[in-house]
Amino acid sequence: MTKDADVVPKCNSVHDDGLYAAERKTGMTRYHLVRCELLVGYAWIEARLIMVGMPSLDDASPVGKQPSYVRLYQTGELKRRASVLLERLARCDVCPRNCGVDRTKDELGFCRSPRRPLIASACAHRGEEPPISGRRGSGTIFFANCNLRCIFCQNHEISQCPELFARQAGGPEQLAEVMLRLQDDLRCHNINFVSPSHFAPQVLEALCLAIPGGLRLPLVYNTNSYDSVATLKLLDGVIDVYLPDIKYCSDRAALQLSGAGDYVRASREAIAEMYRQVGAELVLDEEGSVRRGLILRHLVLPGGLAGSEDSLRWLATEVSNQLTLSIMSQYYPSHRASEVPLLSRRVTWQEYGNVVRTAHELGFEHLWAQESGAPAHYRPDFSRDSHPFERQDN
Ligand code: SF4
Repeated sequence: MTKDADVVPKCNSVHDDGLYAAERKTGMTRYHLVRCELLVGYAWIEARLIMVGMPSLDDASPVGKQPSYVRLYQTGELKRRASVLLERLARCDVCPRNCGVDRTKDELGFCRSPRRPLIASACAHRGEEPPISGRRGSGTIFFANCNLRCIFCQNHEISQCPELFARQAGGPEQLAEVMLRLQDDLRCHNINFVSPSHFAPQVLEALCLAIPGGLRLPLVYNTNSYDSVATLKLLDGVIDVYLPDIKYCSDRAALQLSGAGDYVRASREAIAEMYRQVGAELVLDEEGSVRRGLILRHLVLPGGLAGSEDSLRWLATEVSNQLTLSIMSQYYPSHRASEVPLLSRRVTWQEYGNVVRTAHELGFEHLWAQESGAPAHYRPDFSRDSHPFERQDN
């Protein structure tokens, strides 16, 4: 259901999302479908684990109808923070890599990203967790490049091909315009910045243009968690919803699989800071879309490579077991995964079930589960001119 009018040049486009055929018939998302499957076929997962206890936004909510970033803009604080972050590009320490390159002169560090923000794709995405996607989709902006190099990355076409974007034009005006199109034309529920860590200064810079242009949607920071705490502190009150990964509990695995030998410390400090800012409570609006909070994602890897149980135990003891978890089974061998024999297969249902069971035993009650192994049509294909998640037979 891609609107031709929304298909503009590839790697710089805003796509309407097509509901998958089953979803069109049933109104369900993949997560709803999973809930049914789990409840019917896998009784060992208790129903209360699937999703309970979400508070809704009402007039008495401490979260106002207007995002807090509007107030920060009106007081000048948002511009001040944008300036602080943009200055840091001159000796870039925006993320834990601390490359020290001068991105204001387009010197390239590990993330191979220049001064200007690079947008790989933008769309109304209905495949995220239900409170993120809602009925009309999450206004997803995929940034090009990344500060990790995961050998199994399913987005490797855009995250690890800097040469594709090296000559792409761009600037804060364009990023602001994309945000406003996702809000005003596609009527998305939120703006969802995917892999934003290396472009955090540019996000704030663009917000200073989009807010006077009318931007009012909640902002989602959808991150691999390899974030600098100093950077995150400048996002306090700007970001409404954090959607961080917790990828590994072992720096050895993180170095081998993602090229980040300090991932465990860095990601844990980042997650603790995100939690400090928004807490465990997930606040929903009257449509059931999230307005504020944190959903912590964990992708289960085959052979226990993700250290799932240790990470969940750390979360429960050092952060909170009241957090909302999204435990994902959608791993499939992609990119250079075949270089590691254990990564050359999908996750078994037993492996996945053990992680969900551990979460249950640790007292996590707010949890989204997926079906065991995501169907091929949930895999993004950024080489298509149309929506990256659209089924080819749609
Ligand atoms: S944002 Fe990029 S250049 Fe800056 S420290 Fe991180 S990886 Fe290095």
